Amino acid sequence: MPQKMFFYDSKSVALRMAFWVMMACFLAPATAADSLRIVATTTVVADLVRHVAGDRVTVDCLMGPGIDPHSYKATPRDADRLARADLVVASGLHLEGKLGELLARLGDRMPVVGVADTLPRDRLLEIAPGLFDPHVWFDAALWSLCTSSVADALVALDADGADGYRMRAKNYAAELQSLDVHLREKIATIPLQKRVLVTAHDAFRYFGRAYGIEVIGVQGTSTTSEAGLNDMNRLVDRVVAQKIPVVFVETSVSDRNVTALREGARARGQNVALGSRLYSDSLGGPGSGAETLEEALRANADAIVQGLAGER
Ligand SMILES: [Zn+2]
Repeated sequence: MPQKMFFYDSKSVALRMAFWVMMACFLAPATAADSLRIVATTTVVADLVRHVAGDRVTVDCLMGPGIDPHSYKATPRDADRLARADLVVASGLHLEGKLGELLARLGDRMPVVGVADTLPRDRLLEIAPGLFDPHVWFDAALWSLCTSSVADALVALDADGADGYRMRAKNYAAELQSLDVHLREKIATIPLQKRVLVTAHDAFRYFGRAYGIEVIGVQGTSTTSEAGLNDMNRLVDRVVAQKIPVVFVETSVSDRNVTALREGARARGQNVALGSRLYSDSLGGPGSGAETLEEALRANADAIVQGLAGER
């Protein structure tokens, strides 16, 4: 038991003993699940797993808020945390580009689930033959399909908790479906000709497809690909020609390319505003108001509507 649980007066031995007897009874039924170690790779995946796991198991998140999963490399400590887990839940579809080999190796000897890898291929956006865009959580309805693969993985480890995992997965899927409706209605408030979302990297294509907004990423689908000079010039041409009023930066991606784009447009006589920072491949930290996917997607939609539909 952690030391901080001693919140009774230490002089009162009898009270303390009664407390521990009570705690032992209270904790006993969940002991098996309590000892399970679940590690999720990103904040987005950790949020999904926590919704399905409830209070029954503790979910540890490998990459903290603001970390870019495309370029993240495991430290020796991370490798140890992953190896000691009972279950590793990754986002999948090569989002965790530099962790791929390690996750594949672990998968040979322990359960490793890539939640987006379980989605039907015909619902995914193909970037190149056989290669799919991994940013599926931006389509809340599509992400809701991942709840059942998380429940399956948890039930395989802890059959006693099956009813709870299945119920929470179903409830969370329903919440994501409601969120899906909200996001579509919200984006629909932007006049059609203004619905162009320019962001730091190409993470928002599922968002664009689901909610009816054209998206342009300054960098490619992975942050490890560079925006070339020709691409940048073409993008500046487009921003100027379409009089795009605002571009957005992301919490887990460098601002460098978006800054270059704005400078390019300014040199051509067009001022392009900087929108609020969007949550893309990472949720917000404590106190950000975007610690869950639902909060982050709502905050993004508000920022996009304010930037594109707002008077300026
Ligand atoms: Zn990304």
